Amino acid sequence: MPAQPAFECTRCGVCCVAPDIAALDKPLGQRCVHLGADNLCAVYDDRPAVCRGYRPDELCARVAAPTLDQRVALYLAEFGLLDEAARVARGAPGSMAAARRLPVVR
Ligand code: SF4
Ligand code: SF4
Repeated sequence: MPAQPAFECTRCGVCCVAPDIAALDKPLGQRCVHLGADNLCAVYDDRPAVCRGYRPDELCARVAAPTLDQRVALYLAEFGLLDEAARVARGAPGSMAAARRLPVVR
C-alpha cells in the first residue's frame, strides 16, 4: 500500500498566488493567470512540471487562515517578502524575475 502523504492539500490556493513561478513568468504575490475564481487550477491536467511536482508540507499548515489574502500574506511573511510583493504589486520587477533577465555569465 502506498504511504499516505504527511500533509494533505486543502486546496487553499496559496501556492498559486504567493510564490514567484519562473515557468509561468508569474510575479511574486500575484494570482497565476490559470487560477480560477474557485481557487482551483483551470489547466490542472496541463499544468507545468513545477506545479505537478509541488507537494503540500508543513508550510501549508503554517499559513492556514480564513481568507486567501490572509494566507498569502502569511506565506510572504514567512520568507520576508511582504515589502517586495507590495513593490511588485505597484509594477516593480521582483528580485527573482529581475535575476532571470540578467545575462548568463559563462
Ligand atoms: S499551499 Fe499547500 S494546501 Fe494550499 S493549495 Fe498549495 S499545496 Fe495545497
Ligand atoms: S498553473 Fe495551475 S497549479 Fe500552476 S500555479 Fe497556475 S493555477 Fe496553480
